[in-house]
Amino acid sequence: MDNNIRNFVIIAHIDHGKSTLADRFLELTGTVEKRRMREQFLDTMALERERGITIKMAPVRMGWQGYTFNLIDTPGHVDFTYEVSRALAAVEGAILLVDATQGIQAQTLANFQLAQKEGLVVIPAINKIDLPSAEIVRTEAEFVSLLGALPEDIYKISAKTGEGVEELLRAVIKKVPPPQNKNEEMLRALIFDSHFDPYQGVIAYVRIREGFVKKGERIFFLATNSTAEILETGVFMPERVPKNMLSAGEIGFLATGVKETERVRVGDTIAKNKSADSLTGYREPQAVVFASIFPENQDDYEPLRESLKKLKLNDAALTFEPEESGALGRGMRSGFLGVLHMEIVAERLRREYGLKVVFTNPSVAFRVKTKSSEDFIYSAAKMPQPHEIEWVKEPWVRVEVITPKEYLGTFGSLVSEKSGKISDTSNLAGERLLFKFEAPLREIIVDFYDKLKSVSQGFASMSYEIIDYRPADLVRMEILVAGQNQPALAEIVPRGKVYFTARERVQKLKELLPRELFAVAIQAEVEGRIIARETVPALKKDVTGYLYGGDRTRKMKLWKKQQKGKKKLKSRGRVEIPPEIFLKLLKK
Ligand code: GDP
Ligand code: MG
Repeated sequence: MDNNIRNFVIIAHIDHGKSTLADRFLELTGTVEKRRMREQFLDTMALERERGITIKMAPVRMGWQGYTFNLIDTPGHVDFTYEVSRALAAVEGAILLVDATQGIQAQTLANFQLAQKEGLVVIPAINKIDLPSAEIVRTEAEFVSLLGALPEDIYKISAKTGEGVEELLRAVIKKVPPPQNKNEEMLRALIFDSHFDPYQGVIAYVRIREGFVKKGERIFFLATNSTAEILETGVFMPERVPKNMLSAGEIGFLATGVKETERVRVGDTIAKNKSADSLTGYREPQAVVFASIFPENQDDYEPLRESLKKLKLNDAALTFEPEESGALGRGMRSGFLGVLHMEIVAERLRREYGLKVVFTNPSVAFRVKTKSSEDFIYSAAKMPQPHEIEWVKEPWVRVEVITPKEYLGTFGSLVSEKSGKISDTSNLAGERLLFKFEAPLREIIVDFYDKLKSVSQGFASMSYEIIDYRPADLVRMEILVAGQNQPALAEIVPRGKVYFTARERVQKLKELLPRELFAVAIQAEVEGRIIARETVPALKKDVTGYLYGGDRTRKMKLWKKQQKGKKKLKSRGRVEIPPEIFLKLLKK
């Protein structure tokens, strides 16, 4: 057992300097040579570098003054809390970083609570003290009043200039305990992340809790009841570097050679003994936002499925199941942790897998009770008929917002527009306050975050958690085109907004639908009643153009003939809606 190991994470609100602090640690410990150094070194995905945010946690091993550090950099956005919780399960300590110009933000609190739940030692640190606008005293006061920190325990650093960074790493040595292990013999390792390598199969990122593991050994995945022979063991420097053995307390990777991605699950336990007990991992991720993904080209359906499987290795919260929609063909009904998570998946499918895909409007999962069953409904098309339903419930969240005081008034109306009610406000040090409210998740996922940011000039921040399911007055709205129901366009809508939404949808469709030789009705139907209607006028074809002069009755005759033809067309009924119209409609 190695007493000189320290495993820790850096947690913070988005942009407070986690990845930059990780850079300084990499430099200080000589892990990355100076000439290879670049800003936010651990943000390796193109998407991360472009957006300037961390999406994936990144583990790295560093050696300094006789100690081995395993550091995990984490993402800060509310949608990636699950990613953070997995990193927390693999370490003993956390540096909680706060930007001195911003103060404590909603994600600071949320992450602090997560770290406490995991029983980690938390080291508070104030960052960006080099900036003239840094409010160190105020931030310190917030640490004391909100997190119960002692002033003398709070480190003050600049991740940019490096000031105070060495002291902070010394604090990690002093305050974070070395890994504790009870059993030296039996291997038990926790999978906290993974990705797919075309040559070595699934690469499992592991924290070895007990025992050791070497190349060539046979291991078991306890939850999926499958086995593999280790092709390689190693550590992150931050790129993968082989090391002949991983033992208790260490963080590293196992190349498993496994090609069937579903056999390796994040949260599962690896052991050499098939009948070992599972480590109690962390909670299963709960997808809260659902949308369907359709390939623009149906030939891409299989590639889409394969790509999602590979993405899931690296993004355990992603869920999906096949779905068939008449107009759009085959696709995947997928679950996400939030709308940003959904956007990131869309981008990654495009960039990393070269797929052209369309996402339908995001929706939440509803709990629906009928006479015969009680179930989660993930898509409007599956919502039972009104007469079968006893009740519908929807997820509610508790939202915490931290904002400068002057915006409270504006937020009051924003929150009530979202069917929420502010329940609790408290003053932070200085001119800021923390308020809480409860609202349907459906209202929060769409655009609340963007609105919050825009009314507060970017100064407010939020986090939320699901609290329960509450009764909801929701209806299923169908769209009919030329009398034909279009299941891909069905939506679940709150009763109070149904007229407004219906009008919006039929008008949009009218703009997009190509004209036919006959007039086409577009209707929105709710509970058997048509509540909005538009008509796409018929394409006018001049059938009498070739007649010159002569008797009007001849024209009449031709018009009559045309009329008849149109009737016939209409009675043949179907209007084929080209897939690209659906795609345009869904793309917004
Ligand atoms: P993360 O989202 O927490 O990983 O934050 P980043 O490390 O990506 O940093 C966000 C921004 O803050 C970047 O533009 C950094 O250059 C900047 N930054 C980070 N630390 C400091 C600091 O100590 N001083 C100053 N002036 N800027 C910093
Ligand atoms: Mg970062």
